[in-house]
Amino acid sequence: MDFNDLLEHAPKNIHIFDGLLKARAMLERHRKIAVSVSGGSDSDTIMDLLELVKPEACELVYVFFDTGLEFDATKRHLDELESKYGVTIKRRRAKKTVAAACRDYGVPFISKDASEMMSRLQRHGFDWNDAPENATVDKYGRCKSALDWYFDCRPLSISGKSKYSIRRHKLLREFIQANAPGFAVSDKCCDYAKKQTAADFQKEFKADLIVNGMRRAEGGRRAGSVQTCFTPSKGCKPDNYRPLWFWTDDDKAAYKEWRGLRYSDCYEVWGLTRTGCVGCPCNSKAEQELEIVEQYEPQLAKAARNVFGASYDFKRRYADYKNENKGRHPNV
Ligand code: SF4
Repeated sequence: MDFNDLLEHAPKNIHIFDGLLKARAMLERHRKIAVSVSGGSDSDTIMDLLELVKPEACELVYVFFDTGLEFDATKRHLDELESKYGVTIKRRRAKKTVAAACRDYGVPFISKDASEMMSRLQRHGFDWNDAPENATVDKYGRCKSALDWYFDCRPLSISGKSKYSIRRHKLLREFIQANAPGFAVSDKCCDYAKKQTAADFQKEFKADLIVNGMRRAEGGRRAGSVQTCFTPSKGCKPDNYRPLWFWTDDDKAAYKEWRGLRYSDCYEVWGLTRTGCVGCPCNSKAEQELEIVEQYEPQLAKAARNVFGASYDFKRRYADYKNENKGRHPNV
């Protein structure tokens, strides 16, 4: 089917229509394109979209970054995608796996932003019960943004909200003051297992366009750092394109139906709504998900509990604390 026929047969959906047009233009304008494949539903959608619109002379390279805590179901699904589209998905092992990074630097807790801030404070020997007027940069060194996060005095955004305030997590400061974390908190696993591994791949492949599956609807720190579906190159960095940036869950469902996609067993059989690192503590439903994983890949569930156990315990205590203090604080 030629491209114009394809557009004619596409669902009458603005994001899908626009996605087809833009994806085609992106592939035509770039020479070397690296596509990050995770085996999740967003990445399946992107892969199908790109294979559908790709012009003949176009070098597309698919790459999967294995963090060391990946579902076997995801890996099986990558094999299925390779046969379906007749492509190769390069597998890259993490520079440092999640387990090794957590052992060496600490474990994520609740969100990547909170993990980063708590980690910085721990590294500077912060006293969680210190008063704001005593917690100066002179006393704790260069961790001003972490101190501002903890004392909730980060600058407000235009909308009047403090972007990554500790107040996003109800009573977190009060809880930490009463229960200092007895383990190292860190978001370094993301740096080593994902960002640095991807950077090393880019050094080698030298793509002029990188495609990934970020969506605005995801929210979170990652989505908060970009504004739109395309970021032009800066210096020696490549262009970045996020084909699903504006897509909603309904758009994805409409595309799935149109194209008859089948996601991995994690979605289609087990009923999960996300994939990625098994049991990541930044996922609010990590422990519920692990109960499902237990039934299908028990060894992996056990590994996740070994790596993240301290964080899960701390989060359970935090949930209890919030319940006990319901109504005693104005923001709960
Ligand atoms: S997604 Fe979670 S577990 Fe995986 S690397 Fe990032 S913070 Fe670590």
